[in-house]
Amino acid sequence: MFAPTLTIDVGAVIANWSRLAARHAGETAAVLKADAYGLGAALIGPALAQSGCRRFFVATADEGAALRSVLPTAWIAVLNGCPPGAERDFAGHSLIPALNSLADAIRWSDAAHKSDRPFPALLHVDTGMNRLGVDRADLARLVTEPERIAGASLQYVMSHLISAERPEAAETAIQAKRFATVAASFPKLKTSFANSAGLFLGPDFVSDLARPGIALYGGNPTPGSANPMRPVVHLAAPIVQVRAIEAGETVGYDASWQAMRPSRIATIAVGYADGMPRALAGRLVARHQGRGIRSVGRISMDLMTFDVTDYPDISVGDAIELIGPNHGIDDIATEAGTIGYEILTSLGRRYRRVAKSV
Ligand SMILES: *Cc1c(COP(=O)(O)O)cnc(C)c1O
Repeated sequence: MFAPTLTIDVGAVIANWSRLAARHAGETAAVLKADAYGLGAALIGPALAQSGCRRFFVATADEGAALRSVLPTAWIAVLNGCPPGAERDFAGHSLIPALNSLADAIRWSDAAHKSDRPFPALLHVDTGMNRLGVDRADLARLVTEPERIAGASLQYVMSHLISAERPEAAETAIQAKRFATVAASFPKLKTSFANSAGLFLGPDFVSDLARPGIALYGGNPTPGSANPMRPVVHLAAPIVQVRAIEAGETVGYDASWQAMRPSRIATIAVGYADGMPRALAGRLVARHQGRGIRSVGRISMDLMTFDVTDYPDISVGDAIELIGPNHGIDDIATEAGTIGYEILTSLGRRYRRVAKSV
């Protein structure tokens, strides 16, 4: 029986990683935070590792521990750092924290002093995001008093771009300059700078270790130009009912849509609980055999409705394609007033998930 099905093209993820890796001379990691942007870190991590990816980033300690169980020997870094008190556990899983402040760095270094194993880390220096990362005052202290964190085995100095998808943004150039200065203060450390979009910004953004996420999963790292990445996600659902309504009748909660003519309404069993934002109502244009069909009425928790009046051939059991080659994650994001990242990470747990690997 055909049920709402999310197909994840793992082969395309690998092809995208290779494409990104070919863009620069440095090494290319893979960002697998939020369960590989909702697609499954346990599926994608090992596949990338088999294809030559050696370094992985997650956001949290729990994500790191989960990834460790499927990647027993990989280099795994945790962007949000090591929670206070978790140092031994963290090191026990061989997780590498991003040290996001001087206090973080001192804590990690002190834990190392009490242990007989190395405590590797990345030093995350803020260059404008003002979210996480060592600030200017702490950076000055680190540079003049390196002995305070002598226990930490720093491997990389990293920073994160705030507007990488807008090459013309003033802050992009400012961050490149700041990062060059920071890197020069730590001549022994390797550098990690570009995210997906950063890999398309040119030589000032090249580093020893790129950290792409969204582009691996088919998101466009160059908005405004054609997407250079292969699509990864396909989402389709069968029509569960088609009904004929009179002109003047309404569809769905709040009677927000009214038929201006005798109409045919097709219903699918996908709703906002499955990650189709309610803001898509009236904006989503799904596909039926390549033809656009518009959602009408509210999107409810488990169902949504389409006007198929113009296509008398459409019937129960037909597939409605919500995400596909001609209507990708960035298109649906635009219709919902959000970004592809949020569409991906919201994709629900009720779909049948199918992994495709060629
Ligand atoms: C999420 C994240 C990335 C990956 O960014 P994309 O835009 O998905 O390529 C890289 N670095 C840091 C610090 C992040 O938080």
